[in-house]
Amino acid sequence: MLSVTRALLVKCSPSPTVCNKTQMDSRPRSLRGTFSRSASRSPPREARIGDSVGDESITLQEWQGWGTISPVPAMVSEVVDDLKVLERDIDAQMSFGGTGGKLQGDFKIQEDKKHRATYQALGDSEKKIQFFSARQIACRLLGSRGYLCQKCWLPQEDCMCSKIMPCPLWHGIRLWLYMHPKDFLRQNNTGKLLWQVFGVQAATLCIFGIAEQEEIMWNAFKLAGKEKVWCLYPNKNAPTKSVQDCFAQESSAGLECPPTVTNVDEPLNFILIDGTWNNSAAMFRRLKERAKLVWGEEDLSCISLAMGASAMHKLRPQPSWDRTCTAAAAIGLLSELQLLPEFSSYGLEKQADAVEDALEILLESLTARRLRMGRSIRRRERHNSDIC
Ligand SMILES: [Zn+2]
Repeated sequence: MLSVTRALLVKCSPSPTVCNKTQMDSRPRSLRGTFSRSASRSPPREARIGDSVGDESITLQEWQGWGTISPVPAMVSEVVDDLKVLERDIDAQMSFGGTGGKLQGDFKIQEDKKHRATYQALGDSEKKIQFFSARQIACRLLGSRGYLCQKCWLPQEDCMCSKIMPCPLWHGIRLWLYMHPKDFLRQNNTGKLLWQVFGVQAATLCIFGIAEQEEIMWNAFKLAGKEKVWCLYPNKNAPTKSVQDCFAQESSAGLECPPTVTNVDEPLNFILIDGTWNNSAAMFRRLKERAKLVWGEEDLSCISLAMGASAMHKLRPQPSWDRTCTAAAAIGLLSELQLLPEFSSYGLEKQADAVEDALEILLESLTARRLRMGRSIRRRERHNSDIC
C-alpha cells in the first residue's frame, strides 16, 4: 500500500513555491498529474448554460461558490456571453469533456477560430493576458457546472467536503493563492485545500490575469505595506531569504522584546504561486511588475523554505510531497514559523496539521476515484496537450 501511496504523491501538481534545487533539477513537468488525465476520459458534458436569455450568466453566488471573494469578473461574463451568441449563430451546442472544461466537437472548431481571431486583434499584451485568463476560466466554469463540487473541485460523486475539518488560521497571517488559470478547477490542485481549511478570507484565491482578483490582492498589499508581503519563490535576481532570516531577528535581541513584525494590525501576507513550474516564471514576472508600479521598486521580497528535516518532520516520508504541492509549501511555511520563538504561541503547528490532514484526504479521494474507475494508478505518462 505504501508504494501505491508514493506513486500517487509524485503525481501531485508541481508547485514552484518551494525553493529547492532538487526540485529545479527534477523536471517537474514530467510529474504532471495522472489525476488530471484521469478526467480526460470523462463523458462529454453539455454546457449547462441556460436555454433562455438571462439565465446563462454567472451569478455572484455561483462565482463565489467556487472559492473566491471577488465580484464576477467582467471579462469572464463577456466570454460566456460570446459563447452563447456563437452557439446561436452556428446552431451547434456547446459541449465539454475531459479535464478543465475543454470544448469538444463542431462547436470547438468554430470557437477556436473565433477566439484566436479575438486574441490576435487585441492590441496590448495586458489585454491578451486578461482575455486568455477570462476564456480559460469561463470554459472551465461552464464545463464544470453541475459536474464538479464547487467546494472541493472533485466530481460530485467523489466529494470529500464532509471529511475536511476547518481550522482557523492565526489572524496574523494571510495566504494568497496566486493561481494560473489552467489550474483553476483542477481536481488535483492542492491550493484549494487552503481555503477549504482556513476559509476564503485567510487563504484567498487570486487568478493570474483576472483583474478583479488582482485588484483585491494588491489593495491588501498596499494597505499592509511592502515590508509585510512575501512571495514564496526563489528570486533569481536577488538572494532569497529563509523564514529564519526574515522573522528571527528579534530573538537575538532578547525574549523580552516583542517582535515588531507580528505586533501590528496588518497581517503578514504570503503569496504562494500555484501553477506548474513552466507557468510560474510568467506569474512571478507579473507580480514583480505590479510591485514596481505600486512601490516603485522591483524587488518583491522572496522567501525560500528550508524544507529541512526539522521543519518537515511532521510530513510523511514521501520524498516528492514536499516539493510538489502548494498545500505542502503552506505546511512548510507554518512549520518553519512555528519553530521561531516569536511565533510559537499561535498554534501554527496545529494549523499545519489541519492542512496536512486535508492533503491526505484529497490524495485518498483521488486514489479511490481512479481505482473505482478501473484505472491504473501507475499509468505511463502521456504527453498531455495543454492548448487552451
Ligand atoms: Zn465537495
